[in-house]
Amino acid sequence: MVRRIILHWSAGKYYPSNFEKQYYHYLIDAEGNIHTGFYKPEDNDNCSDGKYAPHTGGGNTGSVGVCLCGMCGYRSPSFHGDYPITKIQFEACMKFVAELCKKYNLEITKDTVLTHYEFGQANVKTSSFGKIDITFIPPYSWVGKNEAGSFIRSKVRWYKENL
Ligand SMILES: [Zn+2]
Repeated sequence: MVRRIILHWSAGKYYPSNFEKQYYHYLIDAEGNIHTGFYKPEDNDNCSDGKYAPHTGGGNTGSVGVCLCGMCGYRSPSFHGDYPITKIQFEACMKFVAELCKKYNLEITKDTVLTHYEFGQANVKTSSFGKIDITFIPPYSWVGKNEAGSFIRSKVRWYKENL
């Protein structure tokens, strides 16, 4: 059963590679197109068979992994490399996550729609602790690292209500 959606950036380039498609269920390119990964969300209902998308260490079971392609070379908000997430990409992702919330009948809370960073902060003994996706949103660069998750949830809520 799908219980939550975890958002990532790939730390790669603007279009998904086959390597990246092993890790995420959905990948959004720089133009806002949605690509499907090699596993379906339902494959993460049970991760004990090894056939699932391993996007969030310690938190893969019941979790859909949605990935923004980009952020290769990112170091800090003042040095974000050659592949910063674009506005059209980010908005397409928010709308798509809203559609997933409808499809899977998920309320939008910090337990059901969250970033990999937030998962790590809440689960410090997992390998997700210390992950930095998503702590910076290039098209909304004023959003602080600890507000990025709630900013994302407010965006997703808006799209869910206005779809
Ligand atoms: Zn991640």
